[in-house]
Amino acid sequence: MATLAGILVVVGSLGLPATAQPGPSTTTGTDIAIGPAETQASRTDAGNVLPVVLDAQVADDGDHARFVVEVSDPFRMRLFTLAGPDRIVIDMPEVLWRLDRPPRPSGGGLIRSYRYGLFRAGNSRLVIDLNRPATAAEPLVVPPSHGKGYRIVIDLEPVSQPKFRELAGWPSDLKRREQAAVRQSDSRTASYGHGSAGRRVVVIDPGHGGIDSGTVGIDGFMEKDLVLDEALRLQAELTKRRYTVRLTRDTDVYVPLQERVSIARALDADLFISLHADSNPDTSVSGASVYTLSESGSDREAAALARKENQSDVIAGVDLSAESTPVASILIGLAQRDTLNRSSRFAQSAVASLSHTTDILAREPHRSAAFVVLKAPDVPAVLIEMGYLSNPHDCARARTSGWRDGIASAIADAVDRQFEVNSARAAANKQAAE
Ligand code: ZN
Repeated sequence: MATLAGILVVVGSLGLPATAQPGPSTTTGTDIAIGPAETQASRTDAGNVLPVVLDAQVADDGDHARFVVEVSDPFRMRLFTLAGPDRIVIDMPEVLWRLDRPPRPSGGGLIRSYRYGLFRAGNSRLVIDLNRPATAAEPLVVPPSHGKGYRIVIDLEPVSQPKFRELAGWPSDLKRREQAAVRQSDSRTASYGHGSAGRRVVVIDPGHGGIDSGTVGIDGFMEKDLVLDEALRLQAELTKRRYTVRLTRDTDVYVPLQERVSIARALDADLFISLHADSNPDTSVSGASVYTLSESGSDREAAALARKENQSDVIAGVDLSAESTPVASILIGLAQRDTLNRSSRFAQSAVASLSHTTDILAREPHRSAAFVVLKAPDVPAVLIEMGYLSNPHDCARARTSGWRDGIASAIADAVDRQFEVNSARAAANKQAAE
């Protein structure tokens, strides 16, 4: 009980009555009078005022855990659990996360880790990964006091595995909302125009985003931020070289893997480039590597990397039940062989180009595995791991503008070569046919 008392002290220091119960003093709705913290809400580019998450506290003694989040304005939340991996999802309207030093859970209690961020435009999430099956009541909202804003209190209690399985799943109304969002994005994608006449279309896919931060490097440097910045640089470089370029995301938002593939297909893209950065428990591992699609993987490490990158949808809490192709099985058809050959040619060329500007992974730098994001049957596609954020040298230079520009022009050189080869071959074929 000594630890539990510790929890109550932590909560007490937040000004929360230790015995808070649902009742007249608390509410989960939006009908609370707006308090002085209102001024801290922030305006988006579109002029909407978004609530701001200002602080978070975690206390966890293994028998009971409490998550307290301080916000500028109250908002409506939905809490549900998902199994395999077991987690608690708190769905909310779009908010701005302004956590200076997000608290780290001990990792040994009920809470293994947690993530937060934008799930899709207009919709943020907090996802709590569990060590053991646990459940939580609807979050309590405590009005401002003691100079603090509104506090959202989430209490976690252990529950048996069968009970957890029984409770787990999307609430039906959220599932309907999710399906509507997918339909909407499908029709948006279908309405994309093709590139201007004669221009090659390149789709750049910055991995992860929003609630899925990807690999976190030294000093909390996040893969999702690095790859977005790199994608914008590559877009500028390719646009200068007269390609039509589309990004699968151009803000810090999560995009489901299948949607990234659909964007490339709807645009009838000539090339799809997914940008990532890796990490390794062995901090001496460094350098760039380039991946193409294969069913089983060129080696165990490549297969493990694909499994890790394919986890993106699980991490964001995407509803996978409607997916026709399970993440684990990717079957490559005959028609795809030609696409795969073109992907491999680009991968080789990208490795050669990148070697002039950055270190290349010492082992075979062009490898293959079952990456979901590379599976469009008709679009040549590669996934570039630009380096290891777990390696101090890679991580330090990945922070520099010079290195990022170098990577962008190296990839653009490989793109140029890819299409020169293609047009040279097409010209030769044409001549032969005449
Ligand atoms: Zn990644």
